[in-house]
Amino acid sequence: MTTGNKRRALVTGATEGIGLACASALVRVGVQVLLVGRSTAKGERAMAAAPFAASDSRFYAADLAQADDLRRLFDEIDTRWGRLDIAINNAGIDGASFTPLTDYPDEAWHQVMALNLTGVYLCMKREIPLMMSSGGAIVNVASIAGLRASYTGGCAYTASKHGLLGLTKSAALEYARHGIRINAVCPGLVRTAMSEAVFGDKLDEHGDLHPLGRLCEADEVAAAALWLVSPAASFITGVSLPVDGGIMAG
Ligand code: NAD
Repeated sequence: MTTGNKRRALVTGATEGIGLACASALVRVGVQVLLVGRSTAKGERAMAAAPFAASDSRFYAADLAQADDLRRLFDEIDTRWGRLDIAINNAGIDGASFTPLTDYPDEAWHQVMALNLTGVYLCMKREIPLMMSSGGAIVNVASIAGLRASYTGGCAYTASKHGLLGLTKSAALEYARHGIRINAVCPGLVRTAMSEAVFGDKLDEHGDLHPLGRLCEADEVAAAALWLVSPAASFITGVSLPVDGGIMAG
């Protein structure tokens, strides 16, 4: 797993969608990536394709809503790498879409919080110590639902993403003096399995939500994340960067 002084990155929820696009972007600029997801089949499929097939990156199966899996994952990183340069905390679920608060299933609330908020908190608890010796950069994948209420996602999704932005800012302040930059990206509606599951064949019609008049593509979120973890963003920490085609300008 270790190759000289190459930068090393962890990307969660990396078997498809935004996480896969982030992992691909990192590999293309020469970073060694550990891709994490729940499904071994999807992980193996991703690893067999470009740009991973010819890389030293690898897939690790873990459910980040499970404390034991999370512990196992970071023990592995500790043992194999002993440090981390980049982390993209992307794994997330949307919960019960189009469901008002009074009807919202408590189980869905807890599942959303366990992954979208507590999961990132627990990941950062292990990622930050691995960055202490030489600095690092973390990007948390939030949403414009972290900046204003989502009309589709339901209360748990909006609350989890608002919480994630607070967590990002708090950690950014606490670790700035250690050379660890911690930022968030806030995508609008992105074409992925998650949005396809919610909107089906009507997905493209929702492109009009964005002043730019179309859906966001996963590669466009990855480009923003890649920039945030790069030296080009060396004086940027604690920001919640909208990747929203102009929604938050209105
Ligand atoms: P997706 O459903 O296409 O992919 C999600 C990835 O997360 C998959 O690789 C899946 O295996 C992984 N995952 C899910 N639960 C997991 C768990 N418990 N443990 C480990 N991995 C798990 O989703 P996406 O649309 O690419 O979303 C990625 C992130 O972007 C999420 O945090 C989501 O909230 C956020 N986001 C998505 C959109 C959108 O419109 N798709 C918009 C804004 C923000």
